Amino acid sequence: MERGLEHGNDEWNPRLERCATSRAREVAFKGLAFSSVFSDHMLVARYGNGAWHDVRIQPYGPLPLMPSISALQYAVSVFEGLKAHRTRDGRIVLFRPEQNARRLNRSAARLAMPEVPESLFLRGLESLLREDAAWVPPADVGALYIRPCLFSVDESVRVKPAGAFLFVIFTFPFGAYYARPVNVLVTERFVRACQGGTGDVKPAGNYAPTLAADQEAHDTGFDTVLWLDARERRYVEECGVMNLFVVTGDRILTPPLGGTILPGVTRASVVSLLREMGHTVEERPVAVDELITWHEAGRLTECFGTGTAATVSHVARIHYRGRDLVLPHQDGGPIARAVRDRLVGIMTGEVADTHGWVRQVV
Ligand SMILES: *Cc1c(COP(=O)(O)O)cnc(C)c1O
Repeated sequence: MERGLEHGNDEWNPRLERCATSRAREVAFKGLAFSSVFSDHMLVARYGNGAWHDVRIQPYGPLPLMPSISALQYAVSVFEGLKAHRTRDGRIVLFRPEQNARRLNRSAARLAMPEVPESLFLRGLESLLREDAAWVPPADVGALYIRPCLFSVDESVRVKPAGAFLFVIFTFPFGAYYARPVNVLVTERFVRACQGGTGDVKPAGNYAPTLAADQEAHDTGFDTVLWLDARERRYVEECGVMNLFVVTGDRILTPPLGGTILPGVTRASVVSLLREMGHTVEERPVAVDELITWHEAGRLTECFGTGTAATVSHVARIHYRGRDLVLPHQDGGPIARAVRDRLVGIMTGEVADTHGWVRQVV
């Protein structure tokens, strides 16, 4: 029997089908690798005939899907990524989850998909986390990564807007880490995003085309790619799947959102915190030639990437056209460290949340 919930219905009370036994107790969270073990439950909601209905929490496991669905054929699929932390006093908190709910809907609109009501996203996620609270690692040990995704289950093999969708949220714990410094290769052969494309949203289809570039980087001894703009191959845009920050002289620069940069929640939070810490942050294009000039003058002091998974990743070396720009502070510059500590402090309840960024679930 379907519940027949309509848009605007504020309940979204999921039907619950619990695992017979929880696997949480068997898992050692310390140092646990990313996406190596998944939590007991997932949330699944269905969309059809113009409405969301049938919201469930069920054991994490296979979904029955047809091979012809447009998620598989045409990548009619978008996703999000956020984290839950356990505070030292045992609460479970989310960091700015409404930002992810809104960004999911901007991604959905770009692919002619329906919105997931913010209340379905947030209440569904909270219900799921209450069910799987035992999967949120203790403070200092790790965090719970949350992956909401929305995809088409239309069986029509025609390139047209779809009508049937699933919204799924699954989660997994991972061990806390200070992200290892990364060595990056500036690629001129491949581009990630172009004006009018989808670089400013999170469709699944953005990521498969980056794999060959990443492979080339790995094969030549780098961790990931530093992307240049598609038009001139002159301006640095993002660092792998992270937003980029550059510290030079007394300024901190980050490429402006302008259609080709993913508006990271971490990026926006880092910009706010850096400004509060008294730094000058400019959102402006940064040419790769400028990086070389600053490096030669000894004024390229830090470079770092930001994103949900690693929070802040220090860039140790940038390779461009046979040149190696080796940055000082090989294991993390003082500005990157300070802003990371402040941000992680807010995320884990150790630093006062003066922005209203943290949302308590349990
Ligand atoms: C998700 C993502 C980011 C980081 O966004 P956050 O909201 O900070 O996690 C940055 N760049 C790309 C390309 C991404 O997909």
